[in-house]
Amino acid sequence: ALLTGRFKRVVLKLSGEVFGGGAVGVDPDVVAGIARQIASAMRAGVQVAVVVGGGNFFRGAELQKRGMDRARADYMGMLGTVMNCLALQDFLEKEGIETRVQTAITMAQVAEQYIPLRAIRHLEKGRVVIFGGGAGMPYFTTDTVAAQRALEIRADVVLMSKNGVDGVYSADPRTDPSAVKLAEITSSEAIRKGLKVADAAALSLCGENGLPMLVFGAENDDIIKALSGEKIGTLITPA
Ligand code: UDP
Repeated sequence: ALLTGRFKRVVLKLSGEVFGGGAVGVDPDVVAGIARQIASAMRAGVQVAVVVGGGNFFRGAELQKRGMDRARADYMGMLGTVMNCLALQDFLEKEGIETRVQTAITMAQVAEQYIPLRAIRHLEKGRVVIFGGGAGMPYFTTDTVAAQRALEIRADVVLMSKNGVDGVYSADPRTDPSAVKLAEITSSEAIRKGLKVADAAALSLCGENGLPMLVFGAENDDIIKALSGEKIGTLITPA
């Protein structure tokens, strides 16, 4: 019931790996494809805000394992997300969609700072808003930021697009052949079972505040399908 009909306003979370098509850096062809899908949803009247990940550049936890200070490595991770933002902005503008990037770390030459009411105003004017720089705080993830931004700008849903994933499984499908894809699961159950679909902080924010989350892939037309309210992936209901 939650996902029938059209959304009015959504937060689309694109994991960093989506931008690189699995490799390090940004693949312009892939980003152009994402931009086309977002543009077509915008033209159909859906307000789209995007939260971008940065795992195609750096992940703080991985750099920490290689000897870096965690907080500094996390800042590198956050800066990586901004490059993804600029790539997406560019291809959205080529689609004729006005786009604003807002970052949680101030960098006035490339983006606005995060101002929630202003973000809402952009959306109302038919612009895509891209949120970069995560929360601006080490030890957080962009999944958590997606849930937080969705709550603050009053989005209907968080749409989580991940590379190489098509939903939530009952167990890890790479190691357990009996694993099946779930159509629906509650956020509290996903946390309890330790399912690695979104981090626990993101799931609990959604669960505690009545925000549904859809987890799906990044293949073919997955993004436009999710933006249009089609039943793909796994719906995580707040509970
Ligand atoms: N990060 C952070 N605080 C945030 C968001 C991100 O420190 O609020 C850092 C963290 O090091 C993380 C990296 O940025 O590993 C990239 O973000 P994330 O792993 O969430 O990207 P994704 O997995 O979606 O590609």
